[in-house]
Amino acid sequence: PQYILMVNDLKKYFPIKGGMMGKTVGQVKAVDGVTFNLKRGTTMGLVGESGCGKTTTGRTILRLSGEKTGGQVLFNGQEVYDLPAKEMRALRTKMQIIFQDPFSSLSPRLPVGEIIGEAVREHKLVPKEEYNDYIDKIMDNCGLQPFHKDRYPHEFSGGQRQRICIARALALNPEFVVCDEPVSALDVSIQAQIINLLKDLQEQYALTYLFISHDLSVVEHISDTVGVMYLGNLVEYGATADIFRNPLHPYTKALFSAIPIPDPTAKMNRIVLEGSIPSPANPPSGCKFHTRCANCMNRCKEEAPVQKEMEPGHFVACHLYDK
Ligand code: SF4
Repeated sequence: PQYILMVNDLKKYFPIKGGMMGKTVGQVKAVDGVTFNLKRGTTMGLVGESGCGKTTTGRTILRLSGEKTGGQVLFNGQEVYDLPAKEMRALRTKMQIIFQDPFSSLSPRLPVGEIIGEAVREHKLVPKEEYNDYIDKIMDNCGLQPFHKDRYPHEFSGGQRQRICIARALALNPEFVVCDEPVSALDVSIQAQIINLLKDLQEQYALTYLFISHDLSVVEHISDTVGVMYLGNLVEYGATADIFRNPLHPYTKALFSAIPIPDPTAKMNRIVLEGSIPSPANPPSGCKFHTRCANCMNRCKEEAPVQKEMEPGHFVACHLYDK
């Protein structure tokens, strides 16, 4: 299929336990009806304020947070949640994740060669006699010195540790990688190196990325398409150029108006959002953005807007664009 990943009305709610006997007293609607398709070999950036459901979306796609609440996740046309445990285990190699904090996701007691190769051996991905060369090549491709494979994570810098995490993911020969804020913890000078590494590897290995970040300039640089999340909803998504030059949703406009403009003579039309993001345990009715939207109309308080395609591949969920 043209789309490696098709996500359809995906929902992930978490129960809120409380009261006597730990009864369920409510639910957090972390992901509340997210729909998008991702083309093979491309990168989709996923942006939004913290708590908007970006990370839960990534983890739910990978089936890393228990059962989903609703919707579909089709990977190469196959519903991920229908797979029995054994097949899911095999699929795990194809769908990888890298995290913001490379240190906490690396075992301090293992040398890096072992960290990178552990799962390769477990899944018997390469014949025994080729194993060492395979790990050396992966390390080399990720900008690590193969002769450093007996060193431990603490002997590496933050940027190198992220390279180790990338090498560990890459060693499993994945098709799809969720990159969850992979450069947010790194110095700006190192960020560009890691982004360039991800881009090189994408080309070399035909990887598809879901790139989660709150940093819009990084997202603009790496993404082919961008999705904007607000309180568990994907409010807008489309080609990166369309989203950055012609944002349609009032929330996207506000979020993007906060990007510093390099040209000091350019007029800054900064839109300041009033109030803070409401709790996903008690989201506003209708359009969840209505409590902060300058364009709010009466119907917005009652009726949730549905996603509409405004130009080819550019989708928005807002009543302003209803015919
Ligand atoms: Fe604003 Fe209404 Fe559009 Fe929601 S649906 S973003 S409240 S105009």
